[in-house]
Amino acid sequence: MVEELAFDNTEERRKDRQNGTGWIEVIVGSMFSGKSEELIRRLNRARIARQRVQVFKPKIDARYSIEEIASHSGRKHGSKPVTTTKEMMELIDPETQVVGIDEGQFFDSDIVAAANELAGKGKRVIIAGLDQDYTGKPFEPMPQLLSIAEFITKTHAICVKCGNTANYSQRTVESDERVEVGASDKYEARCRQCFIPHSDSPTPVE
Ligand SMILES: [Zn+2]
Repeated sequence: MVEELAFDNTEERRKDRQNGTGWIEVIVGSMFSGKSEELIRRLNRARIARQRVQVFKPKIDARYSIEEIASHSGRKHGSKPVTTTKEMMELIDPETQVVGIDEGQFFDSDIVAAANELAGKGKRVIIAGLDQDYTGKPFEPMPQLLSIAEFITKTHAICVKCGNTANYSQRTVESDERVEVGASDKYEARCRQCFIPHSDSPTPVE
Protein backbone atom coordinates (compact mmCIF):
# COMPACT_ATOMS: atom_id res chain seq x y z
CA MET A 1 0.00 0.00 0.00
CA VAL A 2 2.63 2.45 1.07
CA GLU A 3 4.84 1.70 -1.88
CA GLU A 4 2.17 3.42 -3.97
CA LEU A 5 3.26 6.61 -2.26
CA ALA A 6 6.82 6.21 -3.44
CA PHE A 7 6.44 8.80 -6.17
CA ASP A 8 8.16 11.36 -4.01
CA ASN A 9 11.34 12.52 -5.74
CA THR A 10 12.65 14.99 -3.22
CA GLU A 11 15.80 12.90 -2.85
CA GLU A 12 16.56 13.66 -6.45
CA ARG A 13 15.76 17.31 -5.94
CA ARG A 14 18.18 17.30 -3.04
CA LYS A 15 20.92 17.75 -5.61
CA ASP A 16 19.52 21.20 -6.19
CA ARG A 17 20.11 21.91 -2.57
CA GLN A 18 23.80 22.65 -3.04
CA ASN A 19 23.10 26.35 -3.13
CA GLY A 20 21.78 26.16 0.42
CA THR A 21 18.08 26.47 -0.33
CA GLY A 22 15.74 24.62 1.98
CA TRP A 23 12.10 23.75 1.52
CA ILE A 24 8.96 22.49 3.27
CA GLU A 25 7.18 19.21 2.51
CA VAL A 26 3.77 18.53 4.06
CA ILE A 27 2.15 15.09 4.19
CA VAL A 28 -1.55 15.22 5.12
CA GLY A 29 -4.47 12.81 5.19
CA SER A 30 -6.96 11.05 7.44
CA MET A 31 -6.08 8.51 10.07
CA PHE A 32 -4.87 5.17 8.65
CA SER A 33 -3.79 6.88 5.42
CA GLY A 34 -0.08 6.16 5.88
CA LYS A 35 1.12 9.68 6.78
CA SER A 36 3.60 8.55 9.41
CA GLU A 37 4.67 5.64 7.21
CA GLU A 38 5.52 8.06 4.41
CA LEU A 39 7.29 10.44 6.83
CA ILE A 40 9.39 7.57 8.22
CA ARG A 41 10.19 6.39 4.69
CA ARG A 42 11.55 9.82 3.73
CA LEU A 43 13.51 10.15 6.99
CA ASN A 44 15.10 6.73 6.53
CA ARG A 45 16.16 7.61 3.00
CA ALA A 46 17.69 10.86 4.23
CA ARG A 47 19.66 8.92 6.85
CA ILE A 48 20.87 6.45 4.23
CA ALA A 49 22.07 9.49 2.28
CA ARG A 50 24.02 10.40 5.44
CA GLN A 51 22.08 13.55 6.08
CA ARG A 52 21.80 14.85 9.60
CA VAL A 53 18.20 14.25 10.68
CA GLN A 54 16.23 15.41 13.72
CA VAL A 55 12.65 14.32 14.37
CA PHE A 56 10.06 15.85 16.68
CA LYS A 57 6.55 15.14 17.81
CA PRO A 58 4.20 16.93 20.20
CA LYS A 59 4.18 15.81 23.81
CA ILE A 60 0.45 15.38 24.38
CA ASP A 61 0.30 12.86 27.17
CA ALA A 62 2.40 10.15 28.80
CA ARG A 63 1.81 7.71 25.98
CA TYR A 64 3.13 10.27 23.53
CA SER A 65 6.31 10.88 25.48
CA ILE A 66 7.81 7.67 24.08
CA GLU A 67 10.77 8.78 22.01
CA GLU A 68 9.72 7.42 18.67
CA ILE A 69 7.15 7.89 15.97
CA ALA A 70 5.34 4.83 14.65
CA SER A 71 3.09 4.01 11.73
CA HIS A 72 0.05 1.77 11.99
CA SER A 73 1.99 -0.87 10.09
CA GLY A 74 4.63 -0.89 12.81
CA ARG A 75 7.46 1.04 11.20
CA LYS A 76 9.28 3.24 13.70
CA HIS A 77 11.75 6.11 13.89
CA GLY A 78 13.30 7.85 16.86
CA SER A 79 11.88 11.26 17.73
CA LYS A 80 12.01 13.89 20.44
CA PRO A 81 8.73 14.80 22.19
CA VAL A 82 8.31 18.56 22.68
CA THR A 83 5.60 20.65 24.34
CA THR A 84 5.89 23.76 22.19
CA THR A 85 7.33 24.97 18.89
CA LYS A 86 9.72 27.15 20.91
CA GLU A 87 11.06 24.09 22.71
CA MET A 88 11.58 22.33 19.38
CA MET A 89 13.46 25.30 17.91
CA GLU A 90 15.79 25.41 20.92
CA LEU A 91 16.67 21.76 20.35
CA ILE A 92 17.51 22.05 16.67
CA ASP A 93 21.19 21.63 15.92
CA PRO A 94 22.52 24.18 13.39
CA GLU A 95 24.17 21.26 11.55
CA THR A 96 20.84 19.45 11.06
CA GLN A 97 19.87 19.14 7.40
CA VAL A 98 16.47 17.44 7.66
CA VAL A 99 13.82 18.22 10.28
CA GLY A 100 10.93 15.72 10.52
CA ILE A 101 7.75 16.56 12.44
CA ASP A 102 4.90 14.12 13.08
CA GLU A 103 1.37 14.91 14.33
CA GLY A 104 1.75 18.48 13.12
CA GLN A 105 -1.89 19.23 13.95
CA PHE A 106 -1.03 19.21 17.66
CA PHE A 107 1.58 21.95 17.38
CA ASP A 108 0.85 25.56 18.26
CA SER A 109 0.51 28.13 15.49
CA ASP A 110 4.17 29.16 15.89
CA ILE A 111 5.07 26.04 13.91
CA VAL A 112 4.22 27.91 10.69
CA ALA A 113 6.81 30.64 11.17
CA ALA A 114 9.26 28.06 12.53
CA ALA A 115 8.96 25.91 9.40
CA ASN A 116 9.63 28.97 7.27
CA GLU A 117 12.62 29.92 9.40
CA LEU A 118 14.14 26.42 9.16
CA ALA A 119 13.62 26.22 5.41
CA GLY A 120 15.10 29.69 5.14
CA LYS A 121 18.22 28.38 6.84
CA GLY A 122 18.58 25.73 4.14
CA LYS A 123 16.93 22.81 5.91
CA ARG A 124 14.49 20.31 4.42
CA VAL A 125 11.42 20.36 6.67
CA ILE A 126 8.99 17.43 6.46
CA ILE A 127 5.73 17.72 8.41
CA ALA A 128 3.04 15.03 8.63
CA GLY A 129 -0.39 15.59 10.17
CA LEU A 130 -4.14 15.22 10.09
CA ASP A 131 -5.69 17.74 7.73
CA GLN A 132 -9.21 17.40 9.17
CA ASP A 133 -10.64 16.68 12.61
CA TYR A 134 -13.43 14.15 13.25
CA THR A 135 -16.08 16.68 12.21
CA GLY A 136 -14.37 17.21 8.86
CA LYS A 137 -13.09 20.70 9.75
CA PRO A 138 -9.59 21.75 8.65
CA PHE A 139 -7.22 21.07 11.51
CA GLU A 140 -5.00 24.06 12.25
CA PRO A 141 -2.13 24.63 11.82
CA MET A 142 -2.10 22.12 8.93
CA PRO A 143 -3.98 24.40 6.47
CA GLN A 144 -1.42 27.17 7.09
CA LEU A 145 1.45 24.72 6.63
CA LEU A 146 -0.06 23.50 3.37
CA SER A 147 -0.13 27.08 2.15
CA ILE A 148 3.55 27.71 2.72
CA ALA A 149 4.86 24.28 1.68
CA GLU A 150 6.76 23.79 -1.58
CA PHE A 151 5.60 20.17 -1.81
CA ILE A 152 2.35 18.59 -0.66
CA THR A 153 1.42 14.92 -0.47
CA LYS A 154 -2.13 13.87 0.32
CA THR A 155 -2.39 10.31 1.57
CA HIS A 156 -5.63 8.33 1.51
CA ALA A 157 -6.99 5.39 3.42
CA ILE A 158 -9.60 2.88 2.26
CA CYS A 159 -13.20 3.33 3.48
CA VAL A 160 -13.95 0.41 5.80
CA LYS A 161 -17.64 0.57 4.89
CA CYS A 162 -17.54 0.53 1.10
CA GLY A 163 -13.92 0.26 -0.08
CA ASN A 164 -13.76 3.66 -1.76
CA THR A 165 -10.89 6.08 -1.27
CA ALA A 166 -11.22 7.46 2.26
CA ASN A 167 -10.52 11.10 3.12
CA TYR A 168 -12.15 11.25 6.58
CA SER A 169 -11.48 10.02 10.12
CA GLN A 170 -14.79 8.70 11.47
CA ARG A 171 -15.05 8.74 15.25
CA THR A 172 -16.78 5.65 16.59
CA VAL A 173 -17.08 6.69 20.26
CA GLU A 174 -18.71 9.67 22.00
CA SER A 175 -16.18 12.33 23.02
CA ASP A 176 -15.83 16.09 23.11
CA GLU A 177 -12.07 16.01 22.54
CA ARG A 178 -11.01 17.27 19.16
CA VAL A 179 -8.79 14.22 18.81
CA GLU A 180 -8.68 11.22 21.07
CA VAL A 181 -4.92 10.99 21.30
CA GLY A 182 -3.41 7.67 20.40
CA ALA A 183 -6.85 6.09 20.24
CA SER A 184 -6.77 4.72 16.74
CA ASP A 185 -9.27 2.05 17.80
CA LYS A 186 -11.84 4.84 18.19
CA TYR A 187 -11.67 5.88 14.56
CA GLU A 188 -12.34 4.43 11.13
CA ALA A 189 -11.33 5.58 7.68
CA ARG A 190 -14.44 6.62 5.73
CA CYS A 191 -15.15 8.06 2.30
CA ARG A 192 -17.20 11.21 1.73
CA GLN A 193 -20.44 9.25 1.34
CA CYS A 194 -19.98 7.07 4.42
CA PHE A 195 -18.55 9.79 6.68
CA ILE A 196 -20.84 11.22 9.40
CA PRO A 197 -19.47 14.41 11.02
CA HIS A 198 -20.13 13.16 14.57
CA SER A 199 -19.64 9.82 16.28
CA ASP A 200 -21.05 6.74 14.58
CA SER A 201 -21.15 3.11 15.56
CA PRO A 202 -18.17 1.04 14.37
CA THR A 203 -18.49 -0.89 11.15
CA PRO A 204 -19.01 -4.55 12.08
CA VAL A 205 -16.22 -6.86 10.98
CA GLU A 206 -17.52 -9.70 8.86
ZN1 LIG B 1 -17.46 4.61 1.91
